[in-house]
Amino acid sequence: MALISINLKDGTLDSGSAIIIGIDLGTTNSLVAYMKNGQAVCVKDEGGKNALVPSVIHFAENGTVVVGDAAKAKLITDPGNTIYSVKRLMGKSYADLSAIQGLLGYKILDDDTESLVKIRVNARYYTPIQLSAEILKSLKIRIEKELRAPVSQAVITVPAYFNDNQRQATRDAGKLAGLDVLRIVNEPTAAALAYGIGLDTTKAEVIAVYDLGGGTFDISILQIQDGIFEVLSTNGDTFLGGDDFDSAIVSFFCDQLNIGAEILTEDKSLGQEIRLHAEMAKKALSRSEKFEGKIGNQVVRITRAEFETLITPLVQKTLDCCANALRDAKLAADKIDKIVMVGGSTRVPLVNKSVADYFGKPVFDSLDPDEVVALGAAIQADILAGNQKDLLLLDIAPLSLGIETVGGLMDVIIPRNSKVPTKAGRQYTTSVDGQKNLKIAVYQGERDLVENNRKLGEFILSGIPPMPAGLPKIDIQFIINADGILNVRARELRSGVEQETDIRPTFGITEEEMAAMLLDSISHAQEDMQARGLLEARNEANHLLQAGAKFLEQNDGILSPEEKKKTKALLLALEDACGLTDKDQIQRAIETLNTYTAPLAHRAMDETIQAAMQGKKVS
Ligand code: ADP
Ligand code: MG
Repeated sequence: MALISINLKDGTLDSGSAIIIGIDLGTTNSLVAYMKNGQAVCVKDEGGKNALVPSVIHFAENGTVVVGDAAKAKLITDPGNTIYSVKRLMGKSYADLSAIQGLLGYKILDDDTESLVKIRVNARYYTPIQLSAEILKSLKIRIEKELRAPVSQAVITVPAYFNDNQRQATRDAGKLAGLDVLRIVNEPTAAALAYGIGLDTTKAEVIAVYDLGGGTFDISILQIQDGIFEVLSTNGDTFLGGDDFDSAIVSFFCDQLNIGAEILTEDKSLGQEIRLHAEMAKKALSRSEKFEGKIGNQVVRITRAEFETLITPLVQKTLDCCANALRDAKLAADKIDKIVMVGGSTRVPLVNKSVADYFGKPVFDSLDPDEVVALGAAIQADILAGNQKDLLLLDIAPLSLGIETVGGLMDVIIPRNSKVPTKAGRQYTTSVDGQKNLKIAVYQGERDLVENNRKLGEFILSGIPPMPAGLPKIDIQFIINADGILNVRARELRSGVEQETDIRPTFGITEEEMAAMLLDSISHAQEDMQARGLLEARNEANHLLQAGAKFLEQNDGILSPEEKKKTKALLLALEDACGLTDKDQIQRAIETLNTYTAPLAHRAMDETIQAAMQGKKVS
């Protein structure tokens, strides 16, 4: 699609590079960013102050939808029709959510005939995809106002641990909002890019991205090399964040005011006021040593030291997650080259200090922690737009991908370390006359026999029109897209019969298993080669045995009894050799049979042709 943008200020026409925007679709807040004069910037509200759009959606009785700050205000006045934290529901089923339903203020439709959740607002039902699309639409409007030009292409970030369903749901939300989502990028990768980490492709480094937001905590360990960002491990807590810091201060204030926590649920407006003051206090304590405020006519106060005592166990929890992530990545804390801080809650000085102490070095925190992910998304978008010519961010396929062929052999279609996205294919045929179905079993690994590799999935190409063995042309294509999803397509070219399936190659496999599979293939190389040789010889022998039997049957009248006897004996000898495990012996038996039967085959052919010609004359 061609895109032309006109600068309405000076009337210039820019038909060159279209702007691709970067979006951080967050649980608490979302942002949109783009490259302005070679610099990534987040788009602020109309007052030019705030870049954060609260990820909150309000549905009015008359059907109007508002997103952002205006919707956030409705959380208090109209909680039943105000949706927040929708990111937690993306790509989830009812079963996934039963555990958190109680924690959300709105209603998740309890209908187990539907596999994916819906949310009820007024009398209507919305999917998380539709709700996320509302947030994306408002971000799209925000940036179009700023640029005074339509935008249609975007990069959207997701947590590194998001699975296929969740990534696909995010993509769909983009589509619904009128955005062509060019790439789904991991949030930690975007955060690293915002700091320029990974842009120097000659440098290899391992980094940690510590992301403490409003309601979630994520730690990711990334290995960056040659422009490839590989997630070594992720860890975190989906219910730990700045909101918990607020709650700790709420209890502290309640003690100070001499009121019990149960009053907060009875007197909602008092509860809300205390909560508001708690967040205010928390933010103030990121800059000052103490906070003082007034609730009604009573004074509440808290010092930074008191606040730090309150949140120490929570901060310790995040460090425990860091330890788990390092353990999974098989790395010691001092092996991490850089630590990137992400999320509004990393502004808390105790958090910053604890993380720096834990890793033993200062952290990267010079950029606004709310904005880093969106800024990195804009940089990734700019790279995709081709504006940073020498850079191409790629992933690699860590293990070879292929299919099972006759005799259980692995036929590699995409070799390991191929850059992703990639596409490769090969043609196959049938081994039996009239074969109507072909099973396509997809494997990952480096061994020659599929039984030693990891099976990713299989499907059947059915409806092949009956043809003699070897005649159908079956084209098998492997396509790995930029999100790391493998699509396998099989097509019989003569008839056009087609089948395809999606597979996620690395799903459910750890780094450790991957390394073991590679080591295995090296230590078994010799025996694998022998096994492959034996299987190939057996395949050829089986083929000859079938052809030989057919030959005897079809040329019964042409061959002498002596010739038939000798041919049968040689076929039997080959069959016997096949039962052995010596590939040379099979090959010798094949050669003896071929040498003896070649002149017979010639003669048989001549006589058949002659017979056919005579037949023609008669008619
Ligand atoms: P998410 O990634 O979940 O959308 P954010 O990264 O936007 O969340 O973080 C929001 C959290 O950051 C909120 O809990 C908010 O109170 C907290 N926060 C924002 N500014 C500050 C600050 N100056 N000091 C402490 N916490 C802050
Ligand atoms: Mg975030």
